[in-house]
Amino acid sequence: MSCQPTRTPPAERVDIPGLRERYRHERDKRLMREATDQYVRTTGADAERDHFDQTYESDPHTPVEPRDPISEDVDVVILGGGWSGILAGHHLRAAGVEDVRNIDHAGDFGGVWYWNRYPGLQCDNDAYCYLPLLEETGFLPSRKFADGLEIREYAQSVARRAGLYDGALFHTLVESLRWDGSIRRWRIGTDRGDDIRARFVVMANGLLNIPKLPGIPGIEGFRGKMFHTSRWDYEYTGGSQRVPVLDRLADRRVALVGTGATAVQAVPFLGRHAGRLYVIQRTPSTVDERHNPPTDPEWVRTLRPGWQKERQRNFHHAAMEMLAPGEPDLICDIWTEISRNLAAELDAEGWPELAPGEFARRREVVDYRVMERLRERVASIVEDPETAEALKPYYRYLCKRPASNDDYYPTFNRPGVQLVDVSATRGVERMTEKGFVASGVEYEIDCMIFASGYEVSSDLDRRWGIDVIEGREGVSLYDHWSDGFQTLHGMTTRGFPNLFFTGFIQSALNASTTEQMNRHGFHAAHIIGQALLRGAEEVEPSREAQDAWVRQVRETAVDVWQFQAECTPSYFNGEGSEKRRFYAGEPYGPGWEAFEQLLEDWRARGDLEGLVLSGADVRPSSGEAVAPS
Ligand code: NDP
Repeated sequence: MSCQPTRTPPAERVDIPGLRERYRHERDKRLMREATDQYVRTTGADAERDHFDQTYESDPHTPVEPRDPISEDVDVVILGGGWSGILAGHHLRAAGVEDVRNIDHAGDFGGVWYWNRYPGLQCDNDAYCYLPLLEETGFLPSRKFADGLEIREYAQSVARRAGLYDGALFHTLVESLRWDGSIRRWRIGTDRGDDIRARFVVMANGLLNIPKLPGIPGIEGFRGKMFHTSRWDYEYTGGSQRVPVLDRLADRRVALVGTGATAVQAVPFLGRHAGRLYVIQRTPSTVDERHNPPTDPEWVRTLRPGWQKERQRNFHHAAMEMLAPGEPDLICDIWTEISRNLAAELDAEGWPELAPGEFARRREVVDYRVMERLRERVASIVEDPETAEALKPYYRYLCKRPASNDDYYPTFNRPGVQLVDVSATRGVERMTEKGFVASGVEYEIDCMIFASGYEVSSDLDRRWGIDVIEGREGVSLYDHWSDGFQTLHGMTTRGFPNLFFTGFIQSALNASTTEQMNRHGFHAAHIIGQALLRGAEEVEPSREAQDAWVRQVRETAVDVWQFQAECTPSYFNGEGSEKRRFYAGEPYGPGWEAFEQLLEDWRARGDLEGLVLSGADVRPSSGEAVAPS
C-alpha cells in the first residue's frame, strides 16, 4: 500500500499565534549566555577526566594493549575508523591506492557504532538509506530501523572487505598533524609516541566523536557511579548489548541526564530494570510511534539495480526539500511526514504555483498540525497529567532531532519511574556526594548516566579534539579559518597541501549523512588516486579557485538562521548562539543534487580544475579519471 498522509488536527483547531508565543517562551526559558560553554571539555589539556574518563584507556569493549611507537612512511592516513573513514578507505582501495592506514582511538572499526552499545540502540532513520554500499555488498539490514549491533558488524564487514584491517591502528589518539615541507609529508603525532609520515591525510573524524559533559556544579564530589551513554558499563548494569537485561540495577537508584535521541532509546530498558529511575529532562523530544517491521522478502524481490540511490534521493527530497508532484514517499516515517502531508494537500489542489513565502507559510501550518498531533499522542499514553504536560514538545518540527519509540512514553507509567523537569533552572542545579539537586530537592542515587550528547557545534579544535593542525609555515588550521572557512568544494584548503576534509564544511547536506560521507570519500579518493598517478607530491587549491568557491557558497547560502534562532537551544543551533552561523559549516545553497552533479562534472573534465599539483615529476593531466567502484 502506498504511504498515506497522517491524520493531524485540522488547522482551525490549532492556535498558531498562541503556539508561536508559547514556542518563544519555551525557547527563552532555556537560552543560556554560556551556550556551548555550559559543557566542560572532555578532551585536550584542560579536560575534565578524573570522574569522567573518555579516553580509550577506559574502553569498556576492547582491552588496550601496550605497543611500541611506530616510525614509518605511508601513502594515506585516514583519521577515523567510523563510517566516513571506512568509506574513504573503500574508495581509496578501489582507486588502486594500497598503502592506507586508518587511525582511531576506538578498539576497532565502527566509530559511533563502536562506542555506543547502550541498551535499545538502533538506527533512527531508514537503514536501507543509512547503511552504505548495500547494493555493492548485497547486505540488507534485518529491519527498517536496524539494531546497533547489526550496524557495527556490518561496518566492520565493509572494512574487512576493503582490506582496511591490515593497516588499521586502533587505540591510538592523534594529537598533532604537521606539514613537513622538507619531506612533503604530514607528520602525525599520536599519544603512543608514533611518528607517521603520510603523503595524504583524510580527515574522517566524524561528528559525534567527542561526548560532552554538562558542567554541573559539584559533579566532582558525587560518590556514586557515573558514565556517558557512549561508554555504557554493562559490568555495572548487568546484561550486554546482545542481551540487554540490566539485572544488576534491580536494587539501584539511577538517574539519566538528557532526553534526546539516545535517552529515548535507553529509557525503556532502564525503566524496566532499575529499582528507581529519574529521567532528568530539560527539553522534551518529539516521540512518535516506531513501526519497525522486519525486512520484507517480497519487497526485496522488487529491488532493481540503482534502488538504494533512488531511495536515498527520495529520502533526501522528503526530509530536506520537498516531494515532487507524483513522487511517492518511499520512506514513510517521521522524517518525511511534513512533506508527505503537504504534498497530499497540494496534490488535491492540482499543485498550484506557490511563491516561496506562501510555500513556507503552508509548510509552517502543516508543521504546527504535526506537532499538535505529537503532543496529543503524549497525552493519550502518559497517565499522570503533570508528567504528560512536561513531556510535550513546544517547538517547530526539526528544531530537535525527531525520535520514534513505542516504549518511551509508557515507561513513565511505571511506578518506579519519575520525570524530573529541570527546564526552569536550565539543567541540573548541582550534584552532591549522594545525588543531584533539582528545584531545591536532593535526589539520592547510586548512578548517574549522561545521555548528554556530543561536541557537535562547539569550536573546531574542541569538536575535533586535535590540539595541533599546522600547514605550511606552521600556520594553525584553526587560525587559518578563524574568520571563516576557506575551501575548494569543502574538501581542501590552500596552505594545507594533501589534506582532505569530509563532512559538513562548505559542502551540501544530504539527509543520509553516510551518503554524504560516501561521496566525499569517493571524491577525495579520486583526487589522491590522480595525484599519485600523475606523480604529484603536493595538491592544494589555487587561491583563485578557493576564493571563487567561498564566494559561491556565501552567495548561494540559504539562510536557515531565522528558523534556527526561533528554535529551543540544542546542537542544531549552537545552543542558540549566533556563532552557529559560522560553525554550521556554510552549506552549499543549491543543495545536494547540484553539488553531486558539480563534483561529477568536475571529475569528468579530468583536469583537476582549481587544484595546483606540484612535485619533481608531475605529468600533465591525462584526462582519464580513475574510476573507483
Ligand atoms: P543530544 O545532544 O541530542 O541530547 C542531549 C540531551 O542532554 C538533551 O536532552 C539535553 O537537553 C540534555 N542535557 C544537556 N545538558 C543538560 C543539563 N545540564 N541538564 C539536563 N539535561 C541536559 O544527545 P543524544 O546523545 O541524545 O543524541 C545526539 C545525536 O546522536 C542525535 O542527534 C543523533 O544525531 C545521534 N543519535 C543517533 C541515533 C540513531 O540514529 N541511532 C540514536 C541516538 C543518537 P536540551 O535538549 O535541553 O539541551
